[in-house]
Amino acid sequence: MKGFSKIRFVGGTADGIKDDHMPSSMCVQFISWFDGWMRINKDGSYTIIKGGEIDKKTWECYHESVYEKGSKKNGYIQYKHVRKKITYRCISTTKKGDRCRNEAINTEYCKVHKKVAA
Ligand SMILES: [Zn+2]
Repeated sequence: MKGFSKIRFVGGTADGIKDDHMPSSMCVQFISWFDGWMRINKDGSYTIIKGGEIDKKTWECYHESVYEKGSKKNGYIQYKHVRKKITYRCISTTKKGDRCRNEAINTEYCKVHKKVAA
C-alpha cells in the first residue's frame, strides 16, 4: 500500500510485534515503545503498571524501550531495541501544594521549575 510501510520490532518488550500499516512518514530513525509507568500511592509506596495510560495525578516515572531503524528483511523494516529510557516527573510542588505534573528534563525539574532551583 502506498504511503505505508511494514515494520517489525526486534528484541526488548515489543519483540516480534509487526505493523503492516505504519505510515511511512512515521518510520523515523528512533521509535519509542511505551512499557509502563510507576504510581505513587497515598501511603508513599509505589505500584508499577505495565502498559495502559499514565494517570497525570499520580505518576512518578515511565519507561520506554527505544528502537532504532535498521535494514529491511522479508519486506519488513527492522527496528532493533537499543536502550531503555526512563522519564521522571518534576519534583517541584505548585503554589496550591500539588505536585508539578510536568516531565523532568533532567531527573529532577521540568523546564518551568529548573530556573527556580538553579
Ligand atoms: Zn515542574
